[in-house]
Amino acid sequence: MKPANPTPQTKFIFITGGVLSSLGKGLAAAAIGALLESRGLTITFQKLDPYINVDPGTMNPFQHGEVYVTDDGAETDLDLGHYERYTSVSLSQKNNYTSGRIYYSVINKERRGEYLGGTVQVIPHVTDEIKAAVRQLEGEVDVAIIEIGGTIGDIESLPFLEAIRQLRGDLGRENTLYIHVTLVPYIKTAGEVKTKPTQHSVKELRAIGIQPDILLCRTETTLSDELKAKISLFCNVDRDAVITARDVENIYEVPLWFHEEGLDNKILKLLNVWTGSPRLEPWQELVARIKNPSREVPIAIIGKYVELKESYKSLHEALVHGGVANDARVVLRYVSAEDIEAQGFEGAAELLAGCHGILVPGGFGGRGVAGKIMAITHARQEKVPFFGICLGMQLATIEFARNIAGLTDANSTEFNPGTPHPVIYFIKEWYDYRTSRVQVRDESTDLGGTLRLGSYPCRLLPDTFARAAYGAELIDERHRHRYEFNNEYRRQLADKGLVISGTSPDDKLVEIVELADHPWFLGCQFHPEFKSRPMRPHPLFTAFIKAALEHQKTEG
Ligand code: GLN
Repeated sequence: MKPANPTPQTKFIFITGGVLSSLGKGLAAAAIGALLESRGLTITFQKLDPYINVDPGTMNPFQHGEVYVTDDGAETDLDLGHYERYTSVSLSQKNNYTSGRIYYSVINKERRGEYLGGTVQVIPHVTDEIKAAVRQLEGEVDVAIIEIGGTIGDIESLPFLEAIRQLRGDLGRENTLYIHVTLVPYIKTAGEVKTKPTQHSVKELRAIGIQPDILLCRTETTLSDELKAKISLFCNVDRDAVITARDVENIYEVPLWFHEEGLDNKILKLLNVWTGSPRLEPWQELVARIKNPSREVPIAIIGKYVELKESYKSLHEALVHGGVANDARVVLRYVSAEDIEAQGFEGAAELLAGCHGILVPGGFGGRGVAGKIMAITHARQEKVPFFGICLGMQLATIEFARNIAGLTDANSTEFNPGTPHPVIYFIKEWYDYRTSRVQVRDESTDLGGTLRLGSYPCRLLPDTFARAAYGAELIDERHRHRYEFNNEYRRQLADKGLVISGTSPDDKLVEIVELADHPWFLGCQFHPEFKSRPMRPHPLFTAFIKAALEHQKTEG
C-alpha cells in the first residue's frame, strides 16, 4: 500500500552566477520559487555563501547589506529575505551555509577523531559536508532551489561548485538542474549587445564540469531570436533555455516576466515534473497596484547606512508593502542622522520638512544617535507619525525619559555604560520560550552569543495602536538586539504617559512603547520588516503609512 503522504522526490535547482556580482541572482531564485509555488509545488531554498565568516551576523552591513533574521534566530544573508517575501516559505538555520560554517564543522569532526586519522581534504571531506547540507532538504519538498553565492571564477566558491557537480551524479539527471545567471551587456559605442562575457563564463563553468541547462541573461532590453540562437550555439544550451532577464521597473515583475519568457515551463520540462498552469493573478494585481497607486506619501528614514540601501532591504520592502495596502506609493527619503546632528535641532526640522512619517530603524553603536533623537523629538512635538524599530524604539524611550520624564542623562548602556539612568540596559537573563530555558549571558560571551535572536511572542494591550493594527492579542515577531527596556523605569515612564502596549507574555520584557497623545507614535523592540510580504503587508507598516496619509491630508 502507498503511504498516505509519500515523501516527495525532491528535485534540486542549482543557481550560479557569472561575469560579475549584483546580477540579481537572489531575486531570480526567489522568482523561480514563486512561479513553482504558483503551480502548486512545494518548495524551499538554500543559499551557499563562499565567504569564511561562520554566519553573516557580524558582517558590516556597509559591505554586505542587511543581516536577515529567521524565526529560529539564524542570522542570514539578505537573499533569504527575498526568498521568504516571494513565496510562503519560512526558512531557518539550515537554509543558509557559509564556507566558514562548513569548514567549522569539518574541523570539529577532525578534532573529535571522526575521520579516524585520515587526511582531511577539500575533496571529499569538505564537499561531502556541503552535499550533506544540501541533502538535508531531500524529501521535504518537491523542489529545492539552491543558490551559490559569488561569481564563477572566484577561488572560494570552488568547493561548492564541485559539490553541486557531484550531486548530479548522486541524485540523477532528472532530479537536478543547473541555471546560470549571466550578463549580456549593451555596448553603447558599438550600438550592440555582446555575448562574449556569457560565453566565457559558461566556458569557466564547463571547465569545472558543469554544463548549465538554462541561462538567465541579464540585459537592459530583450534579446532578439538571433542573439538567443547565437548564445544557444556557443554555450551548448537549448534555444528555449536562453532566457532574457531584462531590467524591470519593479522587482515584483520578475516572476511575470520569467513566465512570459517560458522559464517555468522549461524548468518543469527538464525536471520532468507535471503541474497545472501557474496562477499568476495575485502577482499581476500586485504589480498593477504598485505601478498605479492613487497617491503618494514621502517618508523619512533616519539612518546610519543611508548611502547603501541594501543595508535596509527588508525595511524598504516592508514600506513598499505598507504603501500597497493603502493604495499609495511610499516615497522614501533617506536622511543621514549625522547630517541632522551637524545641523542641530532647527536643522532637523528643515531636513524633515515635507515628510509625513518619520522612521528610525534598527542599528548598532553610537554613531548618529544624537541626530536620531532630534528627529524623534521633532516627530513627537510636531505630531508627525513615528515608527521606531529596535534601536528606534530604544531611542524613543530615551527621548521620552530625557525630555518628558525629566531624566536628563537617561541613556542606553550601549552608548554610556556609566549613565545614571540606564533606561535601556544589557539584560543578564531572560526566559527563552523556544527552549523553555532561562538564557544567561554576560559581557564575556562572544558577540553573536549575546544577542536575543529570532521569534518571540508578545502580548498586546487593548486600546493601543499596536492592538488596533494587529487585531490580535498575541503575536510573534523576530528579534536581533542585545539591550532591553529597563523595568526599573517602567512605572516612572508610564506615569508620565509612555504607553507600554506590548510585552512578553510573562510581562518581563517590554516589546512595544507608544504615545497616546499623538496621531501615531510607536516603537517596537523587534523587527517587523522581516515578516512583511507583498501579498501580506505587515500590519504595523500598513498602520504607519495609513497614519502618514492622514497626516498629509490634514496638512493640506
Ligand atoms: N543596538 C541595539 C541593541 O543591540 C539595537 C539593535 C537593533 O536595532 N537591531 O539592543
